[in-house]
Amino acid sequence: MTTAHLAFDETNDAIADRVRVMRSSAVRDLFSAATRADVISLSGGMPDVSLLPASALEAAMGAALRDERAIALQYGPTDGLASTRRVVCDLMRDIGVRVKPDQVLLTSGAQQALDLLAKTFINPSDIIIAEGPTYLGALQAFSAYQPDVRCIPFDEDGMRMDLLEAELKTIGKGNPRLKFCYTIPNFQNPGGVTMSMERRKRLLELSHEYGFFVVEDDPYGRLRYDGGHMVPLKALDSDVVYLGTVSKTFAPGLRTGWIVAPKTVLARINLVKQGTDLCGSAMNQVVVEHYFVDTPWERTLQGFVKVYRERRDAMLAALDEFFPPEASWTHPEGGFFVWVTLPPYFDTDSMLSEALEAGVTYVPGNSFFPDGKTGRNSMRINFSYETPEKIAEAIRRLAGAIQDRLDL
Ligand code: PMP
Repeated sequence: MTTAHLAFDETNDAIADRVRVMRSSAVRDLFSAATRADVISLSGGMPDVSLLPASALEAAMGAALRDERAIALQYGPTDGLASTRRVVCDLMRDIGVRVKPDQVLLTSGAQQALDLLAKTFINPSDIIIAEGPTYLGALQAFSAYQPDVRCIPFDEDGMRMDLLEAELKTIGKGNPRLKFCYTIPNFQNPGGVTMSMERRKRLLELSHEYGFFVVEDDPYGRLRYDGGHMVPLKALDSDVVYLGTVSKTFAPGLRTGWIVAPKTVLARINLVKQGTDLCGSAMNQVVVEHYFVDTPWERTLQGFVKVYRERRDAMLAALDEFFPPEASWTHPEGGFFVWVTLPPYFDTDSMLSEALEAGVTYVPGNSFFPDGKTGRNSMRINFSYETPEKIAEAIRRLAGAIQDRLDL
């Protein structure tokens, strides 16, 4: 008698269709190469946590273990500890958004928020609008639910509203398949560009006119190196679903983020989250709460801003000095990334091995598009992690790899 086995070989018959369509993230794949001592990595998106003062970490973690052990070690509410959600409300008020704790749900980083939103809202072939290029972790999270992602190009003022409107006209008003527009208005990942106030207002008008909601992903908003604070979309329209995180202002290792949304939306997300993890880490939530209540975190943030500004300046200066006239790039006022565009025939995906040879990594532009093909003549480079000297050297090496291809 033969027994039927599920095939766990390379055919992977048992794997669900939604997982078959998933692609590995180029950034994750690059992680191992980027740790080689001779390679300077411009591919990651990591904050420099070595800038965090040990005293602040000890204060926040000590308080969690000393004073709040019983709560920190226990299961908590699915939407997160009320005391931590109150601290999130204070953080939101600082940036111009007034909300109550029952409009906040804590997540395991903004990444989980993206997955929960997708799980809650996306049926196969539903239409999602996003900047193109957009955050590849969002594309990964959405792809499991098989949406039809429509990408709208940006310029230095963020998503192009004329192109969005043209796309919306083809989709049609009140189309039930159209769900939400996912945007990173501040210092976009990977673009580095910021949506102007005029375009923020226009996007909200269009959302009401065409019947979709806006998901505002804002991990970098507080990391501004020039210019004044820009009011979040959430402050202009209470229907906006806002995603925040401590990953860039404190530490990604704490995996703490949040969704700010109307209560009716959060009630659904809460149900979905119960099936995902019951609740987030209470320990991490307590640490986050104490960090933002008991330590001079704003001073620490100013330290981050100062260091990242120097690194951004080093990158922009090196690009001016070393990059060929055929290349153009964005000029971010904050965040972590510069987006480089090369002539249309260029393929940064295949150039990566040559760059690695030259001792530098970046993320090829096609990683940031849902089809994995568009954007091959572009790349994302990161300036948050390496010293100004290493950034300048990395850009010099990268310029060499580009020049070799131009000379072919
Ligand atoms: N959204 C964007 C735009 C990001 O750049 C990142 C992190 N790189 C995330 C979400 C995920 O952040 P978290 O660490 O909070 O999960």
